[in-house]
This record gives sequence, C-alpha cells and structure tokens, in this order.
Amino acid sequence: MRDFEQDVIRSANFDGSVKLSYFSWSLAAQMLFGKCPRAYFIRYMIAQGGWDQFCHPAAASAYREKHLQKLDFFLGDLFHESVNEALIAVSTADIRIRKQLFDKILLKSISKRLSAMSFALKNPTDDPKSLHLLELRGAKRLFSSPDEVVYYAAQTLKNAYTSLIVSELPGELFTLPGSVWNVQNKYVSFQVDGVPVYIHPGLIFQSQGKLHCIDFVCSENEPNEQDFSPRKAAIFSLFAENYRSCSDIFYREFCFNDKTAVLREIAPVSKSEIRDWLRSGIHEIQSKLRPDGKYYIADFFCLENQPDVCEKCQFQDTCRLLNRATNAASESSV
Ligand code: SF4
Repeated sequence: MRDFEQDVIRSANFDGSVKLSYFSWSLAAQMLFGKCPRAYFIRYMIAQGGWDQFCHPAAASAYREKHLQKLDFFLGDLFHESVNEALIAVSTADIRIRKQLFDKILLKSISKRLSAMSFALKNPTDDPKSLHLLELRGAKRLFSSPDEVVYYAAQTLKNAYTSLIVSELPGELFTLPGSVWNVQNKYVSFQVDGVPVYIHPGLIFQSQGKLHCIDFVCSENEPNEQDFSPRKAAIFSLFAENYRSCSDIFYREFCFNDKTAVLREIAPVSKSEIRDWLRSGIHEIQSKLRPDGKYYIADFFCLENQPDVCEKCQFQDTCRLLNRATNAASESSV
C-alpha cells in the first residue's frame, strides 16, 4: 500500500537528483540537450512523475511545461493524422474513385480537427495534457488570442491541403494496394548499443524495393545549415535496414506553412556518420550519470547568458523555480 507520509517527506527533501529507471534517445531530446542541457534535464528527467500530487513543485511544473505544444509541431501532427484518416478510409475503395474520395475525406478530417483545436483553445482546462500552446503564453507571446491562432492554422492547413492534393504523392500511393501503406501515427524504437532510439517515421510505404517515408513538417523557417533533416533521414535508414530488412530508402518531407508547401527529397548522411553521431550523443548524456546511479541538476548547465534562447524556452517557470531552490539551498548552507 502506498505510504503518503513518505511521499510528502520525499518531495520536501528533493536534492536536485533524479534516479532514472529508463533511458532512451530521440533526435528531439538530442537537439534540446544541444540547445540547453538544463532544459533537457527538466524535460526528460525531472518531469518524470510530475503528475503525482505529492511530487516536488519543480517536477509538477516540468510536467506541465513539457506538455506545452509548439504550434508548428501541433499542425504537422494534425495534418499527418488527417492524411492517415483519409488513407484508411480509401484503402479498400475502388482504385478509380480513390483520389476523389481521398480529397473529400482529407478536407473533412482537417476541418474536424481544426474545430476541435479551436474549441480546446477557447475552453482551456487545468489538465496539462489538454491543448496549451507555447505561442499563447507569456508577455512575449506570438499570438494575442485563440482566434488569431485558429486563423493562422486555417491558412496553413488550407495551403497544405491544396498543395498535397495536386502533388505527385496521391498518384504514387493510389497505384499501390492500400495494404502496403503504414498509416500509424506512432513512435517506433530500435536499439543502438542497448539504448532505445525513438523515431516518428511519418507515412511509410514500400514500392519497387524501396522503403518510402514521408514526414509532415510544419515550419516557418527555411532549411539552413542547422537543418537536421539529413540526420533524421539517416536515422530512418538505420531503422529500415535493421527492422524492415530494407537497405534502400526514399525519404521525403512535405514541408508547409501559411505561405508555401513543398514535397522535398532529403538525402541522408551516411550510416557510419549517423551511427557515430548517435553514439557520441548517447555517451555525452549518459556520462553525466554519477556513481550513485543518479543524474544531478548541477551537471546540466544553465544557459542564463543566452537571453535569446531563454526567451523562447518552454521551461522558463521550472528553470526559475529550480534557480530559486538552488539559491535558497546555498544561502542556508552559509
Ligand atoms: S530558461 Fe534558459 S537556462 Fe533555463 S532551461 Fe530554458 S534555455 Fe535553459
């Protein structure tokens, strides 16, 4: 039986350390670690167990902030889910009417999700798992109201829809049997040196001996030298080789925003390069594990001297809380 008294004592004695029973790697985690190790510690370590009413306030805050959604990611997922729903609906339809049916169902799926998004934004709840957007938070918020967000989302999704239905993708898909489309919207994992590596493979299908992957990416930014897409494609090629027995991949991104939408091919970096990069990323984080089997916040440095990074950070509240707790601890030890 649960000992609530012990729970309360444990939370009061929180010393900034976390004992993880499970460690995994993902590109998003590595990118966050590269941006700010403190943010990584908050998102992937302290937030674990933050749903518990007896956890430390920092864990509860981390859990809440971890569930804040970035609008671009949210719209990328929304569009992907809508495409999946339309594909499932037409997978058994006659090949001659598939395209027409797909266009119709896709539009309906997008509209349904946009309405749900609008309702969630206008009727917020305290549940961290309900929709809370980063862009509607704080003094420097990007949108002043849910209506503004919904207008932007509608423009963006309309643009994505009109571009996708005239792209080469539906033609490619509809000449194949529906049974070869993999329409799950889930993360999958594979192991590298015993560590689970998670990827979100997008829409997958096999054609002419190749494993095709279409990733749906909503982004305001143009690709630049910081573009991780070739690495993402290479991680997918490791997954394809080891877990789908397919060494030939064709990786594309359907990138869209409120002004443009394009289906672009991404050439992966080499498999040896990505394996080395993955291993060094995993090692960099795991090397912070201390001999007592715990990770300590003091080993995950804060980027306080980079205000532009902090201004956009979704973990500002938790970071402030932790700074206050650290300062209070050092004052009381004087
Ligand atoms: S507020 Fe700044 S220092 Fe704190 S976690 Fe975010 S980026 Fe890192």
